[in-house]
Amino acid sequence: MPLSGGHPALYFANTVDSRRGRWGPDLLKSYVDIIVLAQRIGLIDEEQAGDLVALCKGHPQKAAAALKEAVQLRESIYAFFLSEDARQPYPNEAFEVVHDFAKRGRARQVLSKANDGFKWLQPLTELTDLVDLFAEAATELITSRHDRRPIRECKGANCGWLFLDTSRSGQRLWCSEATCGTNERVKRFRKRQRDP
Ligand SMILES: [Zn+2]
Repeated sequence: MPLSGGHPALYFANTVDSRRGRWGPDLLKSYVDIIVLAQRIGLIDEEQAGDLVALCKGHPQKAAAALKEAVQLRESIYAFFLSEDARQPYPNEAFEVVHDFAKRGRARQVLSKANDGFKWLQPLTELTDLVDLFAEAATELITSRHDRRPIRECKGANCGWLFLDTSRSGQRLWCSEATCGTNERVKRFRKRQRDP
């Protein structure tokens, strides 16, 4: 699974291969895929990932239910931040979904002693705890709107991935210059050759 977006919530939103032109395929085939992603982007460590995978294997029905929640959250995160690129008001329904999962996660947090003092930590004893962790990551982007770069939608023909626009101009069009940027340049070049 390629990673793009520049933030855990956006990596998660971009787990659908294409959202422009066509929709899909969905890169999240099972709840284990979400665990693998979370470990890859540093949201959870190897031990936590192992425990969650074991939970999945022992409770396939819970894993299926958690996957459903995760997909609902992912689509809400996508819809919410897509409106930022379109300069539209944030959609209420998407906000409520993100808010509800994040609140559920916060209610389960415990104040724990870490090396550098006390910290609020999210327990990961239920599969749905990971869904909530992604929701909390999304609220980080929501609450930091005035201190961060804008979120854009990649304009690649079969893309639509979201990314934090860290470019100097703040006008980046592609999730990646190497993939969507190159594809579009090749397309324009061919069109110029066809219709000079
Ligand atoms: Zn793209």
